[in-house]
Amino acid sequence: THFGFETVPETEKAERVYKVFKNVAQKYDTMNDVMSLGIHRLWKDMLLHVMHPQPGAQLLDVAGGTGDISFRFLEYVHSQQERQKRRMARSVQTPSSQDISNNYSTEHEDTPQESRAVVCDINKEMLNVGRKRADSMGISAGLSWVVGNAEELPFDDDQFDIYTIAFGIRNVTHIDQALQEALRVLKPGGRFMCLEFSKVTNPVLARMYDTYSFQMIPVLGEVIAGDWKSYQYLVESIRKFPEQEEFKHMIEDAGFYCVKYHNFTGGVVALHSGFKL
Ligand code: SAM
Repeated sequence: THFGFETVPETEKAERVYKVFKNVAQKYDTMNDVMSLGIHRLWKDMLLHVMHPQPGAQLLDVAGGTGDISFRFLEYVHSQQERQKRRMARSVQTPSSQDISNNYSTEHEDTPQESRAVVCDINKEMLNVGRKRADSMGISAGLSWVVGNAEELPFDDDQFDIYTIAFGIRNVTHIDQALQEALRVLKPGGRFMCLEFSKVTNPVLARMYDTYSFQMIPVLGEVIAGDWKSYQYLVESIRKFPEQEEFKHMIEDAGFYCVKYHNFTGGVVALHSGFKL
């Protein structure tokens, strides 16, 4: 039952990736929870914690799928907004010297732009599931859903403050092109952030993780989604993706600055980030 993705030509890879996510779209969110034992939620929360976006920030979430990153982004920004409002209200009641200086610095700014998140994905089935989810959660304001390829983004230059790609870049055929596109659409000063499965550093954990992913994930895929092959592809694509340091160099080669990474869960996942200057 070897899927043989290692040997498929480039054009076929894109087609197969499309089919995989078309097949898994309806079950995608459930499978994420089951396969990662819910831990993908923590990794995504960590991404937001490191990003720490401020009200007004414009996000492009590439390979955004069913919207997990964008939902968290809007939620985070709104909580920041509420916090700022409370702080303002307090400082009006009891102005301290520090509050006055803070007020002074914001007085001259224009009304801040509303934060927006654009979820971009090559697969409309994934986006449709996400859009329905957003509607049912009542969080559609500030969100847009755009079909597009990471290698050729349908956006003008210098548009976004933050570019995210979570568990998406390993599916892209030409990673260097996707990085070039990220650089192009970010504003100067904007930040690239990529969450992806990576190299487990601890050898004991690595062995457990290998066993789990190669033996359990396709089985879970078969049992829950009736789809062994799609989940086998997912595991193989993780195995083939470059390690932390190598990927860091690729991001630097694309022209990003201050590139660094954090390992989560012993390197099961790494968060790479860099800035456009
Ligand atoms: N970011 C979401 C998350 O973290 O839950 C979804 C990740 S899902 C594992 C990978 C997504 O990448 C799929 O929705 C797939 O359609 C999308 N994708 C694959 N190749 C792509 C490409 N070339 N351009 C844009 N999206 C792509």
